[in-house]
Amino acid sequence: MDFLHLFGIYVAVVLTCIFLVCKYSGQQHNPFNTLLSYVSKVVAPFTPQWLQRSSHWIFHRLFHQRSNIFIYLHIFLEGSVYAEFTYEVFGFCREMDTSLTSLSVPYVLLAIKSCFFYLCIKTDPGTVTKKKVSSLIHVYPYDRRLFHPGVSCETCQLVKPARSKHCRVCNRCVQRFDHHCVWVNNCVGAGNTRYFLLYLLSVCAMALDIALLTGDMLLHAVLRSGLLRASYIDEYGQQQPAGPLFVVQHLFLTFPRIVFMLGFVIFVFFLLAGYTLFHSFLALVNQTSNEWYKSRGFVCRHCHPMPAADNLCSPVLDHSKRYYYSRGLLRNLGEIFFPPQATQKKGN
Ligand SMILES: [Zn+2]
Ligand SMILES: [Zn+2]
Repeated sequence: MDFLHLFGIYVAVVLTCIFLVCKYSGQQHNPFNTLLSYVSKVVAPFTPQWLQRSSHWIFHRLFHQRSNIFIYLHIFLEGSVYAEFTYEVFGFCREMDTSLTSLSVPYVLLAIKSCFFYLCIKTDPGTVTKKKVSSLIHVYPYDRRLFHPGVSCETCQLVKPARSKHCRVCNRCVQRFDHHCVWVNNCVGAGNTRYFLLYLLSVCAMALDIALLTGDMLLHAVLRSGLLRASYIDEYGQQQPAGPLFVVQHLFLTFPRIVFMLGFVIFVFFLLAGYTLFHSFLALVNQTSNEWYKSRGFVCRHCHPMPAADNLCSPVLDHSKRYYYSRGLLRNLGEIFFPPQATQKKGN
């Protein structure tokens, strides 16, 4: 198998990963979990008990308990990209007369992102405590669809305020619960959604800027080498012009670390850009990921006046009530950045 076939497989695998992660991330019953449980059942009889116990412990430790492992992994990946950028790309760009101002933008973005990352980790997402619960139940009205009055959390033994949910990882109920994020080792809730959104936006900007600067550097390297005008002799002795695939192969062999880093940041950018768009949409309609996933089972009586046979048993929902907590784009955004206080009563 030659280089170009391997490169084609690499691109196909990366694109498939992006598609699958974008499509299924956040769903509890997704093909990954189904495949994982199927594989575990198949290999269980051939796996020693100690190995089963340790893999179960590692999985539990990573995804079902609070742990800083993903924060360290995040810092390690980011450090590797910035080390490569500083070590190779920065010097090459300076030789190409790229201004210091453009080259300093990724470092400014890194400082901004680190600030939001830290705030996301350290800010209380809105823990429902015995002291606060009586005032928190007045913050949002119960929609009587996803949230019903008088329901208590069996673990915390507290009445659940509307839009709150118990996080099994943190073992607490969180006000306006969005999801538990392993990358920040914290829940995303009323208190830190704004930092989470700004963190996502800054990571996207950072990845895009590094990708553009690195792409520009590689383009200059190709132009400078004169590869676009080069030719080669094929196996039949014919002279052939060096096409784009030849250039890609040359770049892979000449700058392997830079090309790999560029592939990684492009992957991160597309992955996070989709996720950021999704969260920006949720912020604009004043809905949490938790509410969005739960609402998907409902059928709108306007969009589907004659429900399909397989939807006959689905709960019917008026379209205007799908975004029950929405109060207009600007007020929805304002609510993200200035979360309503516990003592403040709100109507819809
Ligand atoms: Zn709870
Ligand atoms: Zn949590």
